[in-house]
Amino acid sequence: MITADKFVHAKRKGKKGGKGNLTATVDRTNAAQGKFPFTEINGFKLKEVEWTVPDKQTRKQRRRAFNAVRTEFLKHIGTTMEPALREMGLNDKQIQLVKKGRAPVGYNVHHKLPIHGGGKNEFSNLILMPIGPHDELHHKVMDPQVAQMQSGESKKVVIPWTDDMVYVSPERKKSQPQKSALIAKALRARSER
Ligand SMILES: [Zn+2]
Repeated sequence: MITADKFVHAKRKGKKGGKGNLTATVDRTNAAQGKFPFTEINGFKLKEVEWTVPDKQTRKQRRRAFNAVRTEFLKHIGTTMEPALREMGLNDKQIQLVKKGRAPVGYNVHHKLPIHGGGKNEFSNLILMPIGPHDELHHKVMDPQVAQMQSGESKKVVIPWTDDMVYVSPERKKSQPQKSALIAKALRARSER
């Protein structure tokens, strides 16, 4: 039996931080084996990776180091990706907060490959996103596959992946395809420099 306290993030109590867009019900048995009735969730594409659980000390160190990296990451996207932040739905006040290295209420910085799976505090492994769809990535896709894994264990795990560092919901991308394409192009041009 999988217990809730084994999950990477505990289930949040009380009010939900916004809804995800997933309609399909996930069968826990299939999910535990990395089998899902969808190939994308909340705009993230499912991708198979090698998930290796670092020892407890390494995980602890990496989580501690993340506090400083989170600040730097937020300052980075605040100063270089303002159009994307706006497209995600942030207002001026919230964007000012991001520029100072702080996440607006209801948003958090997610490790695309979590620290529990061997993920590092690199900007390319991070994305700022709303808590609702964020929690869905963990609870519906990753947790069922990795809840029983111990330190040092390694196996193939399907994770939701995107190259983006700022989350824009599939609905928003669909409603403003040209704008999204322009922003994506600008971001690519910047990273190629
Ligand atoms: Zn996360």
